[in-house]
Amino acid sequence: MGKDSTKKSERDIIEYISNLLALQADRDLIKGIGDDCAVFRKDNKSCILVTTDTLVAGVHFDLAWHPPLLLGRKTAAVNLSDIAAMGGKPRYAFLNLAFPGSAPAWLDDFLAGFYEMLQEYDTHLVGGDTVKSPNDLSMSVTLIGEAAEDEICYRSGAEIGDFVFVSGFLGDAAAGLSLCQSGLSAGSSTPWQQLVKAHLDPLPQVKLGRMLADSRLVHAMIDISDGLATDLAHICTQSRTGAEIFKEALPVSETLRAAAEKLKSPIFDWVLKGGEDYKLLFTVSPDHEKDLQRRVAKQSGMEIYPIGRIIEGRGVHLCSRERRQNISYQGYDHFIG
Ligand code: ADP
Ligand code: MG
Repeated sequence: MGKDSTKKSERDIIEYISNLLALQADRDLIKGIGDDCAVFRKDNKSCILVTTDTLVAGVHFDLAWHPPLLLGRKTAAVNLSDIAAMGGKPRYAFLNLAFPGSAPAWLDDFLAGFYEMLQEYDTHLVGGDTVKSPNDLSMSVTLIGEAAEDEICYRSGAEIGDFVFVSGFLGDAAAGLSLCQSGLSAGSSTPWQQLVKAHLDPLPQVKLGRMLADSRLVHAMIDISDGLATDLAHICTQSRTGAEIFKEALPVSETLRAAAEKLKSPIFDWVLKGGEDYKLLFTVSPDHEKDLQRRVAKQSGMEIYPIGRIIEGRGVHLCSRERRQNISYQGYDHFIG
């Protein structure tokens, strides 16, 4: 990769590492790099899922507006969401903390929030690491979960003709971040609470993920952490398919429309490219589209939204009455913005 490394995208760097360090096949390793979790065989029916995610001050959060309790919850939630994306059940967590100076004042609240979120999903903190860092504050979590081998939903299972579904409003978290950055988030009476909460305190859809896996009707699944345009592109690349998304079908909240007006922001940048919604994005055979919608509504009261189709070819295309454009990988990338 040499001198060019700063110009590479996050995806290029991961691919480079994966190619350089690819291991020999391992009897118990079912999925290594390339999905929301690595998957290992536990016994002849069940698998262990492992995921890890890092939050860095100034990149993923800002303590100027992020209450430590909610930051603790979010640190757990973003990892729980990767277990949800495979249809798994979270079990054990490791927490790694790096901060400058001695234990920060907000640590107790952070830990209370972290513990609260783990408890909601019956997950135990079983280890971690605590180190001093010269400048940057960061927290990293490794989460271990489990799932029945024949229920796990990979990014690679999409089939031509599948419907693409999303499990809730898109863009709220990105708008919430913009509102925080613009100083418009303060106070519980602001009209933007739903958006600000989506950024500060996202909820991982673990129960829905389990329900979808248990239905065995889902072909491919991912959680939306980098924006629809990028996360659907991951499904397409791994499944060797393309996808078409219908602009008018995208679930957008009224509050988001109002915020776009207020901030004079292009709403579809938030909806398609804004990350951190932590909704589930999944594909289902057209024979089971209605059946799955009914099942989810009956079992959870939640609505899931069909937003497009899996097609032959490559790339994610956004279709409206006026035009069709390739939006593959236009979501958040750490290295190219
Ligand atoms: P997610 O957004 O679901 O957390 P990522 O985009 O962070 O997933 O990662 C995609 C895949 O690349 C995962 O399998 C992850 O484990 C792997 N990965 C990311 N960074 C590295 C790295 N530095 N070394 C090895 N694997 C990595
Ligand atoms: Mg993920």
